[in-house]
Amino acid sequence: MREQQLQHPGYCAGCGVKLQTADQEKPGFLPEAALTREPVICQRCFRIKNYNDAASVTVDQDDFLKLLSGIAATNSLVVHIVDLFDFEGSLISGLQRFVGTNPVLLVVNKVDLLPKVTNLNRLRNWVQQQAKAHGLRTVDVLLCSAKRNLGFDRVIEALDRYREGRDVYVVGATNVGKSTLINRLIRDYSDLERELTTSRYPGTTLDAVSIPLEDGRSIIDTPGIVYPSRLTELVPGAILQKILPEHTLKPLVYQLNERQTLFFGALARFDFVQGERQSFTVYIASGIKPHRTKLERADELYQEHAGTLLAPPDAEQLSEIPEWTRHSLRIPRDSRQDIFISGLGWIQANGKTGALVDVYAPKGVKVLLRDAII
Ligand code: GDP
Repeated sequence: MREQQLQHPGYCAGCGVKLQTADQEKPGFLPEAALTREPVICQRCFRIKNYNDAASVTVDQDDFLKLLSGIAATNSLVVHIVDLFDFEGSLISGLQRFVGTNPVLLVVNKVDLLPKVTNLNRLRNWVQQQAKAHGLRTVDVLLCSAKRNLGFDRVIEALDRYREGRDVYVVGATNVGKSTLINRLIRDYSDLERELTTSRYPGTTLDAVSIPLEDGRSIIDTPGIVYPSRLTELVPGAILQKILPEHTLKPLVYQLNERQTLFFGALARFDFVQGERQSFTVYIASGIKPHRTKLERADELYQEHAGTLLAPPDAEQLSEIPEWTRHSLRIPRDSRQDIFISGLGWIQANGKTGALVDVYAPKGVKVLLRDAII
C-alpha cells in the first residue's frame, strides 16, 4: 500500500488538491484503501461525485423527527425546501420544535410553475403568512426554481448571509426538488463544475449525506420525508410523471353551473354542488385533462370509464389507487379561496357569492381550503 502511495502522482483527479492520508480534517484527505480506486480522488470529491447516489434517500415522518431532534443540539442553519406546487403537502409541520434556536431559511422551489403574471411580492407575503400560520418562524423566505435557475443567486446570497460559518442542514419532503437544488449548491459552492443528475424515484436507506464545504463546514442533506397525505406518494411511479408538472401551469377556466362535475382522470373529482353560476380556475399538470359532466351523470361515468376516458390511471393501474373519500367544503362569499388537493394542484374559486363543493380524492390525501395563492 505504501509503495502504491509513493508511486501515485499525489494529486486529486477531481479538484487537483495534493492528496494525503494522514488527517481527515485537512484538504486532500482520502483513506488509504481509496488509493487503489481509479480515478484517485480526495474524499471530498468522492462524496460530491457520489452525492446523487445517496440523494434519493427517504424516510417516514417518525424517523425523520428523530433525525431532526439532533439538529437542535448543533449550531447550524436549517434550510427548509418546500414545493410551491404542493405547499401545504410539503411543509414540515413541527419543524420549529426540532430545530431549537437555529435559524430556518425557507426556500420555496418550483416558482417557475406559476404563470408569469404572478405578482412575486404578493406571493412572498402569501408564503410568509402560511408559514406563520403553521407555526414556522423563518429568518427569510426565498422563491426560486432550482431546475430553471431562477432566483438562485438570492439563495446563495442568503446562505452566505445566514450561515455565518456554520453547517447547513437541508430538510424537505420528497419530490420538492431537494436534489436538484443541492446539485446547484454543490456547483456554486465547490470548485467542481459537475452536473449531477436527479432522480424521480425515492430510495430506501436512512443516512444523511454530508457534502463538505471549502471552509471545513458541510451541507448535510437529510433524507426526503415521505408524507402519505400527498397524492404523489400514493400513485405508482408511471403516474407520478403525469401529475408532477414540469412546465409553467396553464390555468384552465371553467364556467360552471351548480350540479356540474369535473373529473381529474380517475384520480380525483370535483362537484360544484350549490351556488350561483361562477368560474373555477384549475391549476394542475398538463398530463391530466379535466373532464366535465353533470353531477347526475358522474357516478355512472366513473363506473363506465375510469381507467379509459378518465385517465390517468389507466385500467391496470386503477386498483393501485386508494378508494376515494369525500370532502365537503363551503367557500365563503367575497373570499378568494383555493380548493387545494395535495400533489394534484388546486382549483381557485372566483365567485363572489360563495359555493358548496365536494371533492373526492384518494383516501389520506390532504384536501383543504386556503387563501388563494394567485
Ligand atoms: P427531491 O426528491 O426533493 O430530491 O426532488 P428532485 O430534485 O428529484 O426533483 C423532483 C421532481 O421535481 C423532478 O421531476 C424535477 O425535475 C422537478 N423539479 C425540481 N426542481 C424544480 C423546479 O424548480 N421547477 C420545476 N418545474 N420542477 C422541478
